[in-house]
Amino acid sequence: MSKWTLLLATLLVTGALAPLQAQEFRVELFSGKRVSALTLTAGAEPVQICDARGKPHCLVLKPRETARCLASPTRLRCTCDEKAEEFRTGSFTSSAPFRLAIALAGPRESDSHPSVTLRAAEVSGDRSRFRVIARVDLETYVGGVVAGEAATLKSPAALAAMAILARTWALRSRGRHQAQGFDFCSLTHCQFFRLPSETGSEPSPVAEAVAGTTGLVLKYRGELIDAYYCAHCGGVTEAAGDVWPDRAAPYLRSVSDPYCTRSEQAFWQQSLPLKTVRGILSTRLGVRLDGSLRALEVEQKSASGRVRSLRLVGSSTRQIDANEFRYAVNRQLGWNTLKSNLYTLEQRDRRLIFTGRGLGHGVGLCQAGAEQMGQMGLAYEKILAHYFPGAAIEELGASRAERILSSEHFELVFPPSQEPWVQETLETLEKSRRGLESRARALPAKVRVRTWETTAEFMRASGQPGWVAASNDGRTIQLQPLSTLKRKGILNATLRHELTHLVEHRLRAPQVPHWFEEGLVLLLTGEQPAAGAASSYSGRSLEESVSHPRSEAEMTAAYARALARVRDLARQRGASALWEVLQHPTADALRWFAGQQ
Ligand SMILES: [Zn+2]
Ligand SMILES: [Zn+2]
Ligand SMILES: [Zn+2]
Repeated sequence: MSKWTLLLATLLVTGALAPLQAQEFRVELFSGKRVSALTLTAGAEPVQICDARGKPHCLVLKPRETARCLASPTRLRCTCDEKAEEFRTGSFTSSAPFRLAIALAGPRESDSHPSVTLRAAEVSGDRSRFRVIARVDLETYVGGVVAGEAATLKSPAALAAMAILARTWALRSRGRHQAQGFDFCSLTHCQFFRLPSETGSEPSPVAEAVAGTTGLVLKYRGELIDAYYCAHCGGVTEAAGDVWPDRAAPYLRSVSDPYCTRSEQAFWQQSLPLKTVRGILSTRLGVRLDGSLRALEVEQKSASGRVRSLRLVGSSTRQIDANEFRYAVNRQLGWNTLKSNLYTLEQRDRRLIFTGRGLGHGVGLCQAGAEQMGQMGLAYEKILAHYFPGAAIEELGASRAERILSSEHFELVFPPSQEPWVQETLETLEKSRRGLESRARALPAKVRVRTWETTAEFMRASGQPGWVAASNDGRTIQLQPLSTLKRKGILNATLRHELTHLVEHRLRAPQVPHWFEEGLVLLLTGEQPAAGAASSYSGRSLEESVSHPRSEAEMTAAYARALARVRDLARQRGASALWEVLQHPTADALRWFAGQQ
């Protein structure tokens, strides 16, 4: 530990991820609604409301100030106290989240998104209503989609699988509304999208799932897959090619699903009078029958057992597509009248009895099954492998040669050259996790660990100097090449050290300084940094020296000092008090910190 030490990084930027992650996605908010007025409330930082197109003029809101904007046929007019400006297209930006609340035109419009929290938006007035386009990064978009499309899921693994699918879909489908000036609408036409209305302090399960899979996508032979999913497959998924012939793919074949059939919504039944069906065929599908409809029969089924076409029997017979039929019925009678095409059909008296399973088209991931798999303790890798046979999880921007290997609680991304030490690394991590006992519960369900081919790559990815062995950002651990750590004889110590950091980092109260976290890590792992010359950090506080050391000598000396102070406290109050101080420092403990600068 004396020559080669470790450091906690407060911020981690993965160089390889940066370009794609930083891309901006333009998402139309409140799609399909008539927004007639907006109220914008600044958060902790000012908001700039500027003209996005013409010569720039701006209205600046101070923190917590509110502006109201109204649409006119060609402009929007925003006012705040005595200040007022008019814009053709307004661009709202801030370095902190601000709140946008809307009013809708027309009394009949119900609204499930009265307000959203975001950092950048563009608003244009268009025939006395607004078009609001949020400008978000990829991960924010993914979070909004998981919140919109998978809000009923509880299992972290199922949410993580959905986050990977939402991200894959977003990158593959970007720009579907290019002609209208944005990438995605916020309705199910694209993916149902909802931004949080408030910034909560507690990370939500959705936010955890998105952050825990940052940058991960699903590919087949190096290409992003068509990331389909449905609510409930009824026990067997559908091959994409049987629904949409041009979407046939090896990874979208039909697979049996023993998981979702345990849920209650697996079975459904619907009874419709023949007369009603005849009316729908005529008004919705333009099918003219001479005389009455005498029977409706299944004509053709797909390999999964879903109805593909139906036969109408009247004075003559004709065939109709089962999908068109289902959509027509649902448009007329309500969205869940016929929940899927996985049904059998009987006729009693003058009524049709549909007895079915599942909800939705059945292609790709089954959300009900994924939830069950997650509840049973299966990881998101297992879930995605089940529904997308042959597809592989890959990291954006990672070279194709990189591999991922998982143990129960860890996921290690490594270049092939590091393979000889991968097993040992995962074993040590699992063992260290067990050593942390109940406190390991603070860790994400799966901790991501990355290692690199060279020290230069590690430095680029972690932003750390080359004399640092590892770093973490509270979620992901970045490691120097495993071969280097092994050669220096510090592989196991490094892993133990970083994992202990990760736990402490997630439990540490914000008022507790970094040096205390560092000192406690060293005490728990039994490492002993050599006390260096005091001159190497003279003039700087302990906190500065631990957080941003300018040299290896300064860091080692600062670590030794941090450890000595934590030891002092352990002597005064007992070692068992240290975790309590980390998580819930009393006024007394805070005074002690203040005296230790
Ligand atoms: Zn450390
Ligand atoms: Zn759309
Ligand atoms: Zn299913």
